[in-house]
Amino acid sequence: MSTEHEKSPVVTIGRRELFELGAAVGVALLAGSEASAQGGTVPSAGLAPLPATDGTAIELLRMQADIRRALQKPVEQRGWIMVVDGRKCVGCQACVVACVAENVLPPGVTYRAVPEIEYGSYPDVKKYPMPTQCMQCDKPPCLPAANAIAPRSISKRPDGIVAIDYTKFRGRAAFEAASKACPYRALYYDDGSFYTQDTPALQAYERTVGHDYNRHWVREPGKAGEPPAGGGRKCHFCLQRLNAGLVPACVTTCIGRALYFGDKNDPQSLVNELLVKNPSKLLRIRENRGTEPRVYYLTDDPQFIAGFHA
Ligand code: SF4
Ligand code: SF4
Repeated sequence: MSTEHEKSPVVTIGRRELFELGAAVGVALLAGSEASAQGGTVPSAGLAPLPATDGTAIELLRMQADIRRALQKPVEQRGWIMVVDGRKCVGCQACVVACVAENVLPPGVTYRAVPEIEYGSYPDVKKYPMPTQCMQCDKPPCLPAANAIAPRSISKRPDGIVAIDYTKFRGRAAFEAASKACPYRALYYDDGSFYTQDTPALQAYERTVGHDYNRHWVREPGKAGEPPAGGGRKCHFCLQRLNAGLVPACVTTCIGRALYFGDKNDPQSLVNELLVKNPSKLLRIRENRGTEPRVYYLTDDPQFIAGFHA
């Protein structure tokens, strides 16, 4: 009689393979740093190989393989989405910290948040953590609102990511308009401040290079009006990491393995498999607004998103 293990071979990664994966990640990041800001070029040919597995047993490796397969296609054939398994999030906030570090985010700017949501009434009250971020809406109300004040400052990329042009999305007026239009509170204003600005020494980590939209950004003290400071910012699915063949920082860091990422247009991708296998367990926040968000929530509780108030 065959066992489960014989049917689905379990792949284990040793310390040496983990080290090689880390090296591959570093090389891939360097390769990705030259990619085009608008997603036109992708350095997928130069990516270091992933550790050998059957591609299914280790979800993170499978997602990275999915991303690399997507990078072989023209950008308009990719359809990036995220799936959040609400049953697995433990509210640890590790994804938030990883995102801040990856994108060198200043005070007041967090591309994602994991608020504690509560719904029901005593004694039948439920409380749970809900990871949220920019939903990369297919019909993003932030876009016309921002562009009415700052033309062409927000655009929809062919791969689904809603992108900000930091050189055009300037000032409070455009930010306030876009922020008010967004039903998910996904935009944050970068006011040019630093965490350590009033301490004896501004810490070097606050002046490291950020790579939003595949550009190099260094925020400087006293230059609150220079991009990316002086405008709105939000999650971009870690575009710089995608172009390097890597999953977003939040996904790779998630303690609960609650976050999934990939190409919805690829029938072989893990995210597509999750959507196909769980049609009755999928929810999207505020679908009734017609925004067509690209972040899906997997849950056994039909009330899961009931407590979300943006
Ligand atoms: Fe725009 Fe908000 Fe949708 Fe993101 S979540 S695309 S900021 S409307
Ligand atoms: Fe939830 Fe994962 Fe974020 Fe922790 S890292 S809060 S488990 S989504």
